Amino acid sequence: MIIDDQHYDFIIVGTGAGGGTLAQSLAKTGKRILILERGGAMALEEQNRSNVDVFKRDRYRAPDQWYDEAGEPFSPQTNYAIGGNTKIYGAVLMRLRERDFESVEHEEGRSPEWPLKYRDFEPYYSQAEQLYQVHGQMADDPTEPAHSADYPYEAVPHAEPVKDVVEAIAQQGLHPTRLPLSLTRQTDDPTGDSQVFGIDPAVKSPNVTLKTDAKVVCLHTNSTGSEVRAVEATINGQAFLFFGDVIVLACGAINSAALLLRSASELHPDGLANRSGLVGRNLMKVTMTSIVQLTSSSNEGKFQRSVSVNDFYWGDDQYPYPMGHIQNTGGLLQDVIFAESPPVLSVLAKVMPGFGLQQLAVRSLGWWAQTEALPNPNNRVRLEGDKLYLDYTLNNVEAHDRLVYRWLEVLKTVDKAVKSSVLQRGGMYPRGEVPLQVVANQCGTCRFGEDPASSVLDLNCRTHDLDNLYVVDSSFFPSSGAVGPALTVIANALRVAKHLKARVG
Ligand SMILES: Cc1cc2nc3c(=O)[nH]c(=O)nc-3n(C[C@H](O)[C@H](O)[C@H](O)COP(=O)(O)OP(=O)(O)OC[C@H]3O[C@@H](n4cnc5c(N)ncnc54)[C@H](O)[C@@H]3O)c2cc1C
Repeated sequence: MIIDDQHYDFIIVGTGAGGGTLAQSLAKTGKRILILERGGAMALEEQNRSNVDVFKRDRYRAPDQWYDEAGEPFSPQTNYAIGGNTKIYGAVLMRLRERDFESVEHEEGRSPEWPLKYRDFEPYYSQAEQLYQVHGQMADDPTEPAHSADYPYEAVPHAEPVKDVVEAIAQQGLHPTRLPLSLTRQTDDPTGDSQVFGIDPAVKSPNVTLKTDAKVVCLHTNSTGSEVRAVEATINGQAFLFFGDVIVLACGAINSAALLLRSASELHPDGLANRSGLVGRNLMKVTMTSIVQLTSSSNEGKFQRSVSVNDFYWGDDQYPYPMGHIQNTGGLLQDVIFAESPPVLSVLAKVMPGFGLQQLAVRSLGWWAQTEALPNPNNRVRLEGDKLYLDYTLNNVEAHDRLVYRWLEVLKTVDKAVKSSVLQRGGMYPRGEVPLQVVANQCGTCRFGEDPASSVLDLNCRTHDLDNLYVVDSSFFPSSGAVGPALTVIANALRVAKHLKARVG
């Protein structure tokens, strides 16, 4: 074991939405900061830019093997690199809706109230949108909460292939709105992420050290177990020990929970920060179904996603419970739809025999239907020896099915209205629900709250049990909402950064 002879004020583990954002915010303090990231720099052509094509589906698989509840192995679709999952994400940065912070009744149960409210997060949402150069439009989405600042950039216009479709959706009395997107305004790397807006600016400060290919394997406490004393990492097969005053985990909700569980010791036999028994529990992943709409004319297959529809978010006159969010995929040649929703491929092939995948993709528009997953303590990250298990049973299924069927009805009406461009296929819309290995929107494994018996983290995302240990990724969510989590992770990292700056003076 190599003992690092430096002592850091902060050690941040992970460089995704949480870790990358926190690093850039703390860098300005001049404090000594060490960032440990298990991945390396991702080549431009591997990122979420327009040449991501449907055939390279393995791109989204991590080298890890995890196991489902029945012990079946799978490769998780998650990304280990500087920037974490924001290197491959859709760059849609949406705020949770104001009611998402309240206790909400769903058909299958209640999603819990957050200990902090939308008003507490709002200033940080605005800062996050500035930092990540969000291109958006405060328009007529009935669910959009109030913003104290405008989006810093205008929303991108709808691409040609979806313009008529958007109009036909609006004609049904719905409110298609522009998706808020993080964009760099650079052609070689157009989408904004936590490397571009977080790590790159942070490492310009001389007080910040970034070590890549550095996988943290264990946290060691002091003799009383009240603080983390050292962080053990493997770098190129060699074990290292690093020392810091404040340790921040930002490995993503599954890996942060796994690291805490893996750091069990005599003083913490059930894992670090796990006095509540909740570390790893209440794992949520927004339930997602992809829907493909076939078109008669072809498109380039490479255009920016831009459409958001939230009219069903809280339910409608036929179903009084939340159903969720709809967004388009953008061009199918650049979306992860085939990687995340493989059954769609076989359905498409049956619907259009004789067509190659590429030909199918450019004669289609894609949609994602997203529904809130409810927290269930039995949905969890669990370790058996070295093996990581995800016990996960889908819930809120009826609400999701309703959303999918509502959207199919909308598409049928669209297809009638836009006759010239849409292929009439007797109302067939190939679709597929994402499987377990799609962990894109993972959250909830170390929920925050005031009560140490019912939460892992306090309101500053410090563990209740260890004074100098924080978790600043999507782990802290008490409920998932139905929109993507990234903006809330970023906003929360800015909020926690403010607390950490005050803590170290
Ligand atoms: C294909 C895809 C599309 C998505 N699209 C959207 C979208 O459009 N909008 C949205 O809101 N969300 C989207 N998401 C989700 C979004 O990317 C995540 O919510 C967000 O990145 C979570 O941030 P995080 O900080 O929790 O974790 P991550 O971004 O996953 O970062 C975790 C980091 O920790 C590192 N790490 C893990 N374990 C260790 C370890 N032991 N030692 C050292 N480093 C470690 C990882 O390499 C990674 O860099 C998408 C995700 C995917 C995969």
